[in-house]
Amino acid sequence: MQNLLHNLNPEQLAAVTLPAQSALILAGAGSGKTRVLTTRIAWLIQTGQIGPSGIMAVTFTNKAAKEMLTRLSAMLPMSTRGMWIGTFHGLCNRLLRTHYRDAALPQTFQILDSQDQLSMIKRLLKANNIDDEKYPAKDLMYFINNAKDQGLRSGEVETYDPITRKFAELYGLYDDQCQKEGVVDFAELLLRCYELLLRNQPLREHYQTRFQHILVDEFQDTNNLQYAWLKLMSGHGTGRPSALFAVGDDDQSIYAFRGANVGNMQAFERDFRVENLIKLEQNYRSHGHILDAANLLISNNAKRLGKNLRTDAGQGEQVRVYEASTDLEEAQWIIDEVKNLINDGTKRDEIAVLYRSNAQSRVIEHALFAAGIPYHVYGGLRYFQRAEVKNAIAYLQLMDNPHNDSAFLRVVNFPARGIGARSIEQLQDAARMYGVSLYAAVPYMTGRAGGLLGGFVKIIESTRFETQQLSLPELVRVTLDASGMLQHYANEKEGQDRIENLEQLVGAATQFVQEEGFGLSAPAHLGPQALAQAGTPVVNADGIEVMDADAPLATVMSPLSAFLSHASLEAGDAQAQAGQDALQMMTVHSAKGLEFDAVFITGLEEGLFPHESSARENDGLDEERRLMYVAITRAKKRLYMTFTQSRMLHGQTRYNIKSRFFEELPEESLKWITPRVQSHWFANKKTAWDDASFREGGTDNALAKQMKTKSLAAAGGPGWRIGESVMHGKFGEGVIVNIEGSGTNARAQINFGKSGMKMLDLSIAKLERV
Ligand code: ATP
Ligand code: MG
Repeated sequence: MQNLLHNLNPEQLAAVTLPAQSALILAGAGSGKTRVLTTRIAWLIQTGQIGPSGIMAVTFTNKAAKEMLTRLSAMLPMSTRGMWIGTFHGLCNRLLRTHYRDAALPQTFQILDSQDQLSMIKRLLKANNIDDEKYPAKDLMYFINNAKDQGLRSGEVETYDPITRKFAELYGLYDDQCQKEGVVDFAELLLRCYELLLRNQPLREHYQTRFQHILVDEFQDTNNLQYAWLKLMSGHGTGRPSALFAVGDDDQSIYAFRGANVGNMQAFERDFRVENLIKLEQNYRSHGHILDAANLLISNNAKRLGKNLRTDAGQGEQVRVYEASTDLEEAQWIIDEVKNLINDGTKRDEIAVLYRSNAQSRVIEHALFAAGIPYHVYGGLRYFQRAEVKNAIAYLQLMDNPHNDSAFLRVVNFPARGIGARSIEQLQDAARMYGVSLYAAVPYMTGRAGGLLGGFVKIIESTRFETQQLSLPELVRVTLDASGMLQHYANEKEGQDRIENLEQLVGAATQFVQEEGFGLSAPAHLGPQALAQAGTPVVNADGIEVMDADAPLATVMSPLSAFLSHASLEAGDAQAQAGQDALQMMTVHSAKGLEFDAVFITGLEEGLFPHESSARENDGLDEERRLMYVAITRAKKRLYMTFTQSRMLHGQTRYNIKSRFFEELPEESLKWITPRVQSHWFANKKTAWDDASFREGGTDNALAKQMKTKSLAAAGGPGWRIGESVMHGKFGEGVIVNIEGSGTNARAQINFGKSGMKMLDLSIAKLERV
């Protein structure tokens, strides 16, 4: 036991070894909250206070859950199988799968991702002849999700005007439709699970008794429904509540826009009469300058629970700040610095490039690709959301639950089978008339359309039949073939990439069945009887038999159902490349809880970070500042911040001023890599670089040299030079900001002032020297 605890400071030790009561650990970034939570689980088990099956831990991402399990396996000489560690969604999914009958769901219910949800809402509006100008689908989706996050059904939402009344009515219709199709959206997973526990006393008591310890990481970002769920699960208000151990940091609350309520921390203290409040103030992650920057920045927020961070690690290096002329140049500078870091021995996966908005990643990705630096993008267009992969998943979904209309519509005429929009409309009418799914409505169709639709149904049914005994990877392979998708993409000019992505799906399925303990050869479709036998019936205190949703997924769902849930729930962070030594790119939001040796925070410009949307919201700027605090505190040893004078975003060039956050950082902790030059910078670029190399030492000298070489090389090409003034027939006078490529491939980025920044092909554009 000693070795479990000997690496903890006194406050951490106190937190880990608290008695079995509710507790709140309130502490800043990098102070060891997650470590304390994990160690407490190990300690509880090792000291015999509880068995693995008595523990539930809630993490913010699936990746975090996996990491926690790995750490625990290393700490404990026993299987971690019985432990419930996962996200709210993951845990609810498991409960609903086991108790699908009690939850009034089909056994093979499927999870709608937000893209499917939106298209379903659009169909609903259309079917009901609703004007989508007046009732936009996105607004309705937000309305529904928001209501669900508050735990409200359509009849319970407060309506105060004709629009919200209509929305509430549509919300009801939407839920009916989901029920008919056997699909649930993300928010529904939680709400349905909450209602299941609320209404089903034996079940509720069973789990309340089972989970004596519930531990929640990132508690500041729970929403109202999640908090209510935790209250219910922990038996709050009953005679023997379990111990709820929450760790969080109010300064890192960054999901208010998705309904998170930082007030849950105070509510928790009050509702659970928390006597154990522990603050951790020692930071183990970051060097001094980085921490000073974080502390000073966040001190600008008014509403804080109050705490600070200190480190013993020493001041370390200053934060490097770089002002680039354009986003292209920003990317180039990052690449150069990344190369330096790698040369100095930093591992690629210890380097993170963070951005406020996903749209920023493309330019940086492009530069990384060109430089041959392997990278991994979190949450961009996720693997499972790529069109071809979604198509393949739709076939698999139909085999598991043919009543999923979204899946049906996605592939009924893909690859093309001559089924036109008109036939689909007729089918939709029939489905409405008979109150059934599209799939079930096919037999009502006659004529040519009936024949073609029948052909589609036959593909699904015969594939399902043929694959009865096959394993999941084999099933995927057969389906790719039988659907005609492989053939289709093979005939497409640029289909090779898509075929490769599809083939990866077989690999993903293989990996999945192995990791989840199904075994490579388990049949993908498991009959309902097999499932019923596989669960563990449990008799609760009242002698009522309930089925426990115990450990391996294999006991509660078929490999196919499990894989489809995984595709919906884990799309973001379970990509195949995870193990590879690659540079990490992600939004600041998805960097929460992570740490890296070196971190780049990019695009620190007014309107981007802080984001312009924050001006419209109450507390919006404070939330942006918390986001910035999260970004800064990801760095262990080295932190970079960049901003640009101009940036191309969403097809428009924006001219920027640097983020106000720079004013809120300690000057002595910052090292400005370029002199802060003004707008005539381009014209005087050469002088500015000389100036930079003169003022800065070491790497910066090398940088200045590199940039100079670049401009000389360009000058030797078609005769154009960076910094040169040019005249264009349409755009007027401008300054060459950057030159890429050479010879006939040379392209120049030119700042045309009022006409904006343009990228022109030098061999085509008619430019004149001024
Ligand atoms: P965040 O708020 O960002 O989620 P956190 O509070 O959860 O941060 P951890 O990720 O648990 O912090 O810990 C930060 C780092 O400090 C980790 O690398 C962890 O291993 C290390 N650490 C924590 N406590 C100690 C300790 N007592 N001695 C040495 N290292 C520690
Ligand atoms: Mg943490």
